[in-house]
Order: sequence, then C-alpha cells, then structure tokens
Amino acid sequence: MYTGKVIIVGAGPGDPELITHKAVKYLQQADVVLTDRLVSRELLDEYVNLEAEIIYVGKEAGSARSTPQKKINDLLVEHYYQDKLVVRLKGGDVSIFSNILDELETLQEHKIPYEIIPGITAASGAAAYSGIPLTARGYADSVRYLTCYKSEYKPENYWRELAKTDDTLVFYMSGENIDTLVFNLIRHNISADKAIAVITQATTPCQHVSIYQFDDINTLTNTAFVSPTLIIIGKVVNLYQRFSWKDNSINSDSYFKSVSYIRNRLSVL
Ligand code: SAH
Repeated sequence: MYTGKVIIVGAGPGDPELITHKAVKYLQQADVVLTDRLVSRELLDEYVNLEAEIIYVGKEAGSARSTPQKKINDLLVEHYYQDKLVVRLKGGDVSIFSNILDELETLQEHKIPYEIIPGITAASGAAAYSGIPLTARGYADSVRYLTCYKSEYKPENYWRELAKTDDTLVFYMSGENIDTLVFNLIRHNISADKAIAVITQATTPCQHVSIYQFDDINTLTNTAFVSPTLIIIGKVVNLYQRFSWKDNSINSDSYFKSVSYIRNRLSVL
C-alpha cells in the first residue's frame, strides 16, 4: 500500500501572491515539487518547504532544455512509488494549454490518487493587471482562449469567423506567430474599432503592455516580444487607455528564471 499522492497545482500567472491558499498548503507539505518554466523563483522560495526536492521540468517550444512529457510522467510515478507527496506545479491554471491530460492518464493508468488545484490563468492575470476587462458590457459578450501555431493550417473560414466575431480573442503561445495572426485577420477585414494588446510577463515586475491598431500595424510586425506573451484582440482593448493602473515596466529582464535557479535543492534535468 503506497501512502503518496500527486497534487496537480496551478501556480498562477507570475505574481507569487496570485496563488491559492490551498496550493500554498500543499507546497508547504510537499516532498517533491515538479515545476514548470513559468513558475517563478520567488514563488518557490516563498512557499516550498525547505526539505522538499524541487525538480525543474520546464518546457520551451523548440528548446533543447525542454523536458519531454514522458520524462515528467515517469517522475510522477517514480516519486509516488517512493511514498512521496508530489506537487506538480504548473504556470497559470492547470487546465488551460497545459499537458494535464497526459499526466492524468498516466496517474490513472498507475492507479495513483491525485487532486487538481486550479490557478489564475494568464488571460485573467493579464486582463486584471492591464485594466482590460475581457467581457466588458457593450464591448464583448464572450471570450475565447486560442493559440496560433505557424505550422498548423487553418481554413479560410476559420480566419473569416475570427475576424468577424465580437468575442474577445485571447491568444496563448502565439508571440512568435503574431504576424501570421494579424495578417490573416486584416485579410478578412477585421474592423478598425478592434485593437491588439500584446502583454509580456504579465503580473510580474517586468510586465509590459503594447497596444496596436489594425490600421497601423507596421511597428507590431517589426517587434520581437519577450516570452511569455499573451495577445488580446477585440474592442475591449480600447479600454486600456482608461483603466490601466500599473505602469509599464522599463525593465527588459526576464522574470521567469527557473533554469538557472539552484538553491542546492533544485535539480535541472
Ligand atoms: N496554463 C497556463 C498557460 C500555459 S501555455 C495558464 O493557464 O496561463 C504558456 C503560454 O501562456 C505562454 O506562451 C503565454 O502565452 C501565456 N502566459 C503564461 N504566463 C504568462 C504571463 N505571465 N504573461 C503573459 N503570458 C503568459
């Protein structure tokens, strides 16, 4: 009979104070923490108990430093069989653009007990810290979370519908493909009363918000954005001028530095 358990936990979008009490409770009890790239060093320092082993299992598209999903699944199982309380800490919320399905299937396959603790997803964090209400009355009725992969073909009617909808569109993992995104929406005559917000490192001291209009996007297509980047498109973006409350950072540093974080207890795989 094994006594361990796996807790899949959302760490929130960056600001360490945007984590739930329940998540903190588990980080204080954990024997092992398997953590993502988008979890900050500050958060680990503040909440993980000093006895716990912290294992960095970050993923970065196209990076050699990425940990393969299979390796992460194996670590979950291995530590469970050592009777450990394992926290699998993921950036943002666990159910939004995270590989939770793979991990759940692995846990189920091995009959490993688990809990799932939600976190604040990047869209909510970025919306709040930029003062862009995602479904502001009179501006949008709904919001969609999407992603734009360069390699993935989307039919014309996909782009036509996206250009036409009054839903607020939030694109995750699309910073590098922003040209494709904007080009396709313009091609399908997206209305000029919608705008684009590019929010990098949201909720952290390095947060930066850039606003672009569709009729003047030359500067946008010539800019490389720091990761992580979230893109919000819709009429609601125009509310930024009125309701932003956090000054843009002039700090070009990268806030998420887990890879180089070694406090004698962080293993980099
Ligand atoms: N599960 C996470 C998303 C993981 S996918 C969540 O719920 O937020 C990773 C993508 O999330 C990044 O490419 C970026 O688009 C977005 N993201 C995560 N944290 C962010 C942040 N602090 N600022 C801007 N975008 C962020």
